[in-house]
Amino acid sequence: MDYLPIFLDLKQQHCLVIGGGSVATRKSKLLLKAQATVTVVSPEITDALKELVQQGQISWVQSLFSPTQINDQRLVIAATDDEKINQAVHEVAQQKNILTNLTDNPDGSDFIFASVLDRSPIIVAVSSGGESPVLARNLRARLETLIPPAYSKLGELMGKYRGAVKQKFGELRQRRQFWDTVLSGPVADHVMAGREGIAEQILQQQLADESETVETGEVFLVGAGPGDPELLTFKALRLMQQADIVFYDRLVSKEILALARKEAELVYVGKQRAWHAVRQEEINNLLLEHAKQGKRVLRLKGGDPFIFGRGGEEIDTLAENNIPFQVVPGITAASGCASYAGIPLTHRDYAQSCIFVTGQLKEGELNLNWSVLVKPKQTVVVYMGLAGLSQLSQKLQEHGMPADMPAALVQQGTTENQKVWLSTIDELPELAEREKPIAPTLLIIGEVTKLHDKLAWFKSG
Ligand code: SAH
Repeated sequence: MDYLPIFLDLKQQHCLVIGGGSVATRKSKLLLKAQATVTVVSPEITDALKELVQQGQISWVQSLFSPTQINDQRLVIAATDDEKINQAVHEVAQQKNILTNLTDNPDGSDFIFASVLDRSPIIVAVSSGGESPVLARNLRARLETLIPPAYSKLGELMGKYRGAVKQKFGELRQRRQFWDTVLSGPVADHVMAGREGIAEQILQQQLADESETVETGEVFLVGAGPGDPELLTFKALRLMQQADIVFYDRLVSKEILALARKEAELVYVGKQRAWHAVRQEEINNLLLEHAKQGKRVLRLKGGDPFIFGRGGEEIDTLAENNIPFQVVPGITAASGCASYAGIPLTHRDYAQSCIFVTGQLKEGELNLNWSVLVKPKQTVVVYMGLAGLSQLSQKLQEHGMPADMPAALVQQGTTENQKVWLSTIDELPELAEREKPIAPTLLIIGEVTKLHDKLAWFKSG
């Protein structure tokens, strides 16, 4: 880290701006926003600065820079277009230990300015360390859409009740839980919708509420998508950052896990095929026990929790025990892999329906409704299809699917290890034997797979 970002309290602190052009104007206005006492030194100043002088907001010393002008200021900004003057300013200021910014020379400055998103009391400062101000501004613009102006009101409201909440909840964990509830519930919703009055009333009620609602844990059953972290939903990310403990699957990538709250305990509960049933019960109980202890439990699953994810079973136990839960859908492997392989699952010419099935074997057998799968103009997506691939290929053909029906095998879709093989249902087993794809893999069967050659856009690593 080349710089330490700090937030400086400049209220009524003397700051000196040398220069009177557009840069000096911008900096002066920024200092004013931070309630500094600003003096501008320059023979000429912009109209905007003149207006501020007339309004009594800044002082103007109408002269060239002279060393005696620097005395006890908190900050000095050298914003003339003459590099030599800026350097001279810096030398004098340095002798007096006053931090200086040279607007044309970040490397020679004691401090640099950040690109600021002002939602006071929330302030976000972004810097590229002087390498690329455009990039910093671009990032700030993106944050602007993520952090709407109402955050300002939310910050004020939370600040107002900070002391009261601290008094009511002795432990940090309780306080955090209370605020998380505020942020994820009606209080935040009302503030965002511009109804601060109602929001404050609800906040007061929640604070006065002697019941143990704040202490009750909750389970978030969250779909993490197929692999690419950017395919997470905003809601998934928000809840991931509230978790006390995370139970995650084999399919959840490291990059995604890294987005969970830093302090959260991470527990791997990946399943082995053979002892599925036993383990599932164990997982159900783990979620229950931790929620009962008052924790916010994140159950993070690959793809969508309600698509071949046993999500229903996990929350069933919670519902029976009156534990609150939320379910967040994720992008399922079929959608993710299809998009990233350039294979539309439906298409006016090739497929009017799409069906998702699991190719998991039960006692060595594939037990599927074959006549439903073998239909014209339909895409069939097979999850967990690798182990039973030979049987699948054979049965589909026995039930009338043409041997040359095109199919695609997608390995680790949406990740940098994604690979797509095109084949036919007849030749799939041989292809898998030869290429030895690495799990997870998804099988897409149907005419739509032919579009891959033309529509593939995603380049893996
Ligand atoms: N709930 C998950 C599916 C769990 S079943 C979802 O909605 O996606 C596990 C199967 O999903 C794997 O055997 C594989 O067939 C498929 N799968 C999950 N992620 C995948 C990925 N990134 N690429 C290919 N297949 C994937």
